[in-house]
Amino acid sequence: MREVRVRFAPSPTGPLHIGGVRTALYNYLFARKLGGKFILRIEDTDQGRFVPGAEQYIIESLTWSGIHFDEGVHIGGPYAPYRQSDRKEIYHQYALQLLQNGTAYYAFDTPEELDAIRKQYESRKETFQYGPQTRMGLKNSLTLPENEVKEMLDAGVHNVIRVTIPEHETITVHDLIRGVVTVDSALLDDKVLYKSDGMPTYHLANVVDDYLMKISHVIRGEEWLPSAPLHVLLYRFFGWEKEMPEFAHLPLLLKPDGNGKLSKRDGDRLGFPVFPLRWTDPKTNEVSSGYRESGYLPEAFVNMLAFLGWNPGTEQELFTLDELVQEFSIERVSKSGAKFDVEKAHWFNHQYMSKKTPAELAALLIPILELKNIKASLEYVEQVCALIHDRAVLIPDLFTQSHFFFLDPESYDEKVVAKIWKTETPTLLAEYIPVLEATEPFIKENIEINTKEFVQNKGIGMGQLMNPLRLTVVGTNAGPGMMDMMAVIGKEFIIPRIRQCIEKIKG
Ligand code: GLU
Repeated sequence: MREVRVRFAPSPTGPLHIGGVRTALYNYLFARKLGGKFILRIEDTDQGRFVPGAEQYIIESLTWSGIHFDEGVHIGGPYAPYRQSDRKEIYHQYALQLLQNGTAYYAFDTPEELDAIRKQYESRKETFQYGPQTRMGLKNSLTLPENEVKEMLDAGVHNVIRVTIPEHETITVHDLIRGVVTVDSALLDDKVLYKSDGMPTYHLANVVDDYLMKISHVIRGEEWLPSAPLHVLLYRFFGWEKEMPEFAHLPLLLKPDGNGKLSKRDGDRLGFPVFPLRWTDPKTNEVSSGYRESGYLPEAFVNMLAFLGWNPGTEQELFTLDELVQEFSIERVSKSGAKFDVEKAHWFNHQYMSKKTPAELAALLIPILELKNIKASLEYVEQVCALIHDRAVLIPDLFTQSHFFFLDPESYDEKVVAKIWKTETPTLLAEYIPVLEATEPFIKENIEINTKEFVQNKGIGMGQLMNPLRLTVVGTNAGPGMMDMMAVIGKEFIIPRIRQCIEKIKG
């Protein structure tokens, strides 16, 4: 069997969309599962769309996601260079090869001339295609005399190299996800392969590089399916049919309502990030949020992405990256688009957060505390995390769920006060303070025994004391068990909070 070599080939035209991360992920899983190689190639032949920082962003996003490469622009490899702009010299000879064997030709029409023709067609409600039906009426090496063509080339007249699409032919693409796809070549146009700026277009560079880099499988988004027939033709024109990779076009990622593709432009409009990491547009300074900065764990992000278009065929939903490698198969990738579901994204993250140990959660909470200038020992933060471990959906929730372990309440929830604060409450709390003072050591079991004794002596229910007590400590009616919480916070902080609350509510 052929060595498995797959590539992720993004164009650095902006931040990588989560659909792109999913494409990289499926390629990665495929390569790892079959013991193959995974390559990062940067397709930057369209200089007009180049965005500074985008390449770095792509690499950082995939590194954060845990998707690693065997060869690529950032690590080198036997087929380097892996950035197409560094391979510029390679492509011209291949364009010449097609010119020589008659499957490509020079076209000299200027953009203005083509625009004018396009407009004429539009005025007749027709669409212009540079192709089998029109090429013989246009300015190219098929219609102009040979000596004129030579003169124009020698004089450096603006020209492009176009592929000669056969007039009527059924082109067959075998797709591992979609099966056999056939296209009538009449629907294709004579695409430009080589541009006047001395750069290949995507189609030429992509096919040449896949061939030279010995790519065995092309796994990419569905938006590239329309290009596949042209690529199949190019493999034939070059005489590389035996080396042609197998194709797999992945289903689209759809907006949550299923209405259309989840696009980069959706940004934060739909209430969730469409980018793995925060991105600041270098031109407009506009900031788009990222999964990392929003507090998602990379392992949850990747697990969620894996399920957008694939499923293992069992009930299991939680998979580590290694488990995904074991389970993944291209046959189980669906044909239909996958709707993004923000609730599901939260669910995945919550699952992974809940599985973390207190020490792991503390490592996530400490940077948040540092940003807020809150000092606490590692041991203390771990104790806090042990009490709130399944309460955080996203990383910042670790603080929202625990701020009262670090800070006194700033205010008291009025609704809760109205409900639970009775005339006798201040006296009751004041009488309870000595009970806490006398509890030594101040551990959960002792607090529990002494508190029970106190409420029994008073002849009241536990709730009558616990509800206002919680209000004094937390500021509202939320938080983990009172006894656990008090033991962790310590009486030296609890008692002043009780006093402060009595004062504030009175005032
Ligand atoms: N450069 C293309 C992109 O940005 C690659 C498509 C392919 O994988 O062939 O998606």
